[in-house]
Amino acid sequence: MLMDRRFQELEGVMKRADIDEFFRRLSARDPAPSSELAFHSPFTLLVAVVLSAQATDAGVNRATPALFAAADTPAKMARLGEARVRELIKTIGLFNTKARNIIALSQQLLERHGGEVPTDRAALEALPGVGRKTANVVLNVAFGEPTIAVDTHVFRVANRTGLARGKTPEEVERKLLRAVPARWKQHAHHWLILHGRHVCKARKPSCAECAVADLCARERRRRCRRRRGRRR
Ligand code: SF4
Repeated sequence: MLMDRRFQELEGVMKRADIDEFFRRLSARDPAPSSELAFHSPFTLLVAVVLSAQATDAGVNRATPALFAAADTPAKMARLGEARVRELIKTIGLFNTKARNIIALSQQLLERHGGEVPTDRAALEALPGVGRKTANVVLNVAFGEPTIAVDTHVFRVANRTGLARGKTPEEVERKLLRAVPARWKQHAHHWLILHGRHVCKARKPSCAECAVADLCARERRRRCRRRRGRRR
């Protein structure tokens, strides 16, 4: 009974002091994390993030050098045309829809924003193919805003560790924004993505090599279950 109560406590969210320590350790390993997508301007970042939906960054990075060599501004992209963009990104999943969106968003940038990527969320989310997550990445990486984009890795790590539990990316984002101390917010998104990609992997998390295992609710639950099993 005592163990059951303790187990329930361990199901809870991470304590504030532990959250601070969690990010202190991730930051010590990688003080200035950056996107693994290749880009060289807000526009090429925007296009790369649109292309990365349901695709790997490595796959996007294989296609974008040729695409950006042909067109690295909205004007050049609009002139390049949908058929040529489709051809250049055909190795990336959903390339038909993505080619259509990239041309449409380039035209919209020219018509409404003077060919510049807008710096406000509403204008970004009004662009074809741009949702909340993409807008958060652009605001954070291109314009230095302390947003936290919740992709599949961030969603998994936040829920597993107890950093921020939620059923939807929006709920997790809201809780992360409340829970993450201000000094870690700027890079929190990248630290969580990189931790999810390389350590806290979906199928086989490398808990034995994890720098934050003692702070992680999932790992604590596992230890608690093992102890409970030994006492039976
Ligand atoms: S201990 Fe395991 S589950 Fe917890 S954060 Fe580390 S890798 Fe992920």
